[in-house]
Amino acid sequence: TKALLTGGSGFIAAHILDQLLTKSHTVITTVRSTSKADKILQAYPSQSANGSLIVAIVPDIAQPGAFDNVVQEHGKDLEVVLHTASPFHFKFSDPKTELIDPALIGTTSILQAITKHAPTVKRVVVTSSFAAIINEAHVSDPTTTFTEKSWNPVTINDIHRNPATAYRASKTLAEKAAWDFVSHPANNAKFDLVTVNPPMVFGPVVHHLATLEAINTSNERIVDAIKGKWKSEIPSTGQALIWVDVRDVARAHVKAGLELGGEVSGKRLFTVSGWFSNSEIAEVLRKNFPENKGELPGEGVKGGELPEEDKRFGYDNSETTRLLGIEWIGLEKSLIDTVRSLKKVEGSA
Ligand code: NDP
Repeated sequence: TKALLTGGSGFIAAHILDQLLTKSHTVITTVRSTSKADKILQAYPSQSANGSLIVAIVPDIAQPGAFDNVVQEHGKDLEVVLHTASPFHFKFSDPKTELIDPALIGTTSILQAITKHAPTVKRVVVTSSFAAIINEAHVSDPTTTFTEKSWNPVTINDIHRNPATAYRASKTLAEKAAWDFVSHPANNAKFDLVTVNPPMVFGPVVHHLATLEAINTSNERIVDAIKGKWKSEIPSTGQALIWVDVRDVARAHVKAGLELGGEVSGKRLFTVSGWFSNSEIAEVLRKNFPENKGELPGEGVKGGELPEEDKRFGYDNSETTRLLGIEWIGLEKSLIDTVRSLKKVEGSA
């Protein structure tokens, strides 16, 4: 199958790319710069040589029409598009131009490019997020159960409240725009849509792309823990409280895009392994990496505990688990593999 993967340099996308190439699919992936393109091409020499991996440059997804050229050039016989590119960081000064625009315009411009230039595309998978499901007003409410059907009520008017809310708005508005696009008859979309909505994603980094200094946002806390930043106090876990391994998120994209049929058409896939807390992360790291004892918080160090059951939301992703048939990787394995990959990155730096 011929697939287009946007944002191929990203933490999650690197795993999607790897799984697609391992299964001998043909992939066109987009990145922002030639230096990232070169790293990806070098990591897959045989696929680069035989044309089953093409890396195209899309410098800024916030530009309307950003994907027109790449889809026009490579749209022939294209069957699947996996749209992962979207900013996930809190280092912005203006949430509108740096978060909302790339998330929203990126999503609409890929969908428009497909309708214009790639009539053979049957399915589009958009990487959305738990951010588009969560409701900040109910995170401490045990009577709330977040499911595949829940929607974050956040609006564009909320983006100056704080960086986390701005990010959640970017994901919510982008996902809504995608559903609106396919449901609007005037757009004449010939493809169906699936979204993947992961909560906090942990897991190994793909080694040719990552550096510890520029670690992806969701693995940042693990780098902090092994770098000694949790020694005197473990920071609060935040609001999300649920997590999934990056390899399962990638698997969900590949299954939804290339392996499953009508049963996932129009679905939001809420890919969740389970609860986590910073305190549990610290415990797992202490147990498995005694050589890092000097940097890790000692047994008596407090902070980052999971709120009691009657002080946190509930979730139910049983429909997604049934549809995907994935046995979710557990927290201990995920963290061990993450730290091993980070050590490898550090060692090669
Ligand atoms: P990364 O930051 O590693 O990946 C983000 C990707 O988007 C990168 O390829 C990045 O390019 C690209 N990108 C960001 N802004 C722009 C822009 N303006 N123009 C072009 N490309 C851009 O994060 P993740 O892999 O974690 O995120 C991938 C997707 O998964 C995102 O849609 C994110 O919202 C979603 N997600 C992530 C979760 C997590 O916990 N990690 C949880 C839920 C959803 P570059 O490499 O050049 O910066």
